[in-house]
Amino acid sequence: MNKEEILTKYAELVLLKGVSMQRGQGVEIVCPVERNDVAKIFAKTAFSLGARDVSVRYEDRIIDKYNYLYGDKEYLSDIPKWKIMQRDNLLKKNYCYVAIDGDDPSVFKDVPVEKLAYIKKARAKAFKKFSDEVMKNGIRWCVVSIPTESWAKEIFKNDKNAVDKLWELIIKSMRLDSSDPVSAWTQHVSILNKRAEFLNAKRFSYLEYKNKSGTDIKVGLIENHVWLSAEEKAQDGVKFIANMPTEEVFTAPHNKRIDGTVRSALPLSYNGQIIDDFTITFKKGKIVSVSAKKGEDLLKKLIETDSGTKSLGEVALIGKNSPIALSNVLFYNTLFDENASCHFAIGGAYPTTVKNGDTLSKKELHKLGFNDSKEHVDFMIGTKDLNITGVQKDGTRTPIFIDGDWVI
Ligand code: ZN
Ligand code: ZN
Repeated sequence: MNKEEILTKYAELVLLKGVSMQRGQGVEIVCPVERNDVAKIFAKTAFSLGARDVSVRYEDRIIDKYNYLYGDKEYLSDIPKWKIMQRDNLLKKNYCYVAIDGDDPSVFKDVPVEKLAYIKKARAKAFKKFSDEVMKNGIRWCVVSIPTESWAKEIFKNDKNAVDKLWELIIKSMRLDSSDPVSAWTQHVSILNKRAEFLNAKRFSYLEYKNKSGTDIKVGLIENHVWLSAEEKAQDGVKFIANMPTEEVFTAPHNKRIDGTVRSALPLSYNGQIIDDFTITFKKGKIVSVSAKKGEDLLKKLIETDSGTKSLGEVALIGKNSPIALSNVLFYNTLFDENASCHFAIGGAYPTTVKNGDTLSKKELHKLGFNDSKEHVDFMIGTKDLNITGVQKDGTRTPIFIDGDWVI
């Protein structure tokens, strides 16, 4: 297959399985400007699948960086009305929304942290209506990735074939190398759904994690926890996949019932810096001590962010044989790295991982043991020898993972 053919396959997969674009629907595509070749193929494919309209918004992170470095803070934080109206129009006219990401993970590393946070906050406020609708699945959306030179070189350093190497990995992890990627994904999603159904039926009280490198921890689950996987239902009833690739089945831990020590399995890239080879010890749901061979201060700073960063907001299960895990590459991109290994997240939980969670108040959620924080930082804990056992209220034990992979 030539480059255009494989990109067309990619576009079909994302439009049909990712956002489930319907005939007669509009689609908005956000794409890095240096990969406008990709946006063009996505647009052409969308029309061939019956799109009514395709709107493309190019992102240019270098121009963003110049603005953040040299621009006036107040001026940049005053988001023009037309930009907000553009988002509102997507909601009003029921567009679906494809975000193609290829960001250099360290592009904003020279921007003063406070200035960046100030502008980010203003943008979040201006586009709140749109992002709330995205979080509540009021619009069908999908985030995918495409290699850019700056991102690929971050992974493969100065290898002149970096972009091609990253593209190869994306092809594999997106199952574009199968003869029919759309049905490969239908099958993949049904396996993940079955695992989530099994775990939901068991109503485990807690999970026990053990391996030889120092993980020995019991993680309590919220009484009304819900295990989720790849597929979600939009408010219009149509199913879609918000993140591609995705390999995880995940739920909400109880923020007062976590006891023991967990050791990291992969480096954690946080705010453009690396924390590596670390252990975290919990008592009654709260972090009581941490140590790291690299980035210990940064890790300590992270857990001091707010009251929620002293506990966990997500437990996610991913087998050691997932295509991303097998690649053995650190992508510096959450979409990939969190799908390479079982992980926990320091910080806030997703309301959707609790029964009726999106209708409960913060107070009601808190009573259940739901962890709330402005941070949500995934860190990888899945080693090749990790065993995970589910324990029910009456003490019945069910193996879920043996030697790093699913046994259910
Ligand atoms: Zn996750
Ligand atoms: Zn997460």
